[in-house]
Amino acid sequence: MSDGEPAGVGGGNADANAVEPAAAQNDTVAPAETNPKTLVCERCGSKILLPNCATSVCKKVFLPAMSFKARSDATAGAAAAEPPAFPADVEHVVAGVAGEALEAFWLVKGMYTFENVGVSHSVQHVKYLTCADCEMGPIGYHAVNGSRDDFFIAKSRVKET
Ligand SMILES: [Zn+2]
Repeated sequence: MSDGEPAGVGGGNADANAVEPAAAQNDTVAPAETNPKTLVCERCGSKILLPNCATSVCKKVFLPAMSFKARSDATAGAAAAEPPAFPADVEHVVAGVAGEALEAFWLVKGMYTFENVGVSHSVQHVKYLTCADCEMGPIGYHAVNGSRDDFFIAKSRVKET
């Protein structure tokens, strides 16, 4: 009987020769949240992105109103002649264009990560992403001046399935 022996203290770590470089310990960044489900077009269901192909990011970015929603929204807010001013920290505001500031995005690394996506011509250094099949959008954007591999999909403008 080994009564009084503290159990499990320093048990078996006899490898005294292993001098680990401390740098490896710094790799403890919390794992980024990735998309758990397939992202599809809200309108036609076209597959945009497979699961775990994007990471969740928060940033304030202006996107023009969705093409297929724009009309009904416009009639509802009849008297709103001037688009609302956006705070200075909202990126890529396009003056005179109806839209909204969004904050929740999926960051997609590289154009070829997408299953399907359409890309507009650039408007003030931004290319808008649309559904490749029905062209509904914009569902996201790519900043021409930013990293060429960074594509952002607005979470509120796609469906998870
Ligand atoms: Zn579509």
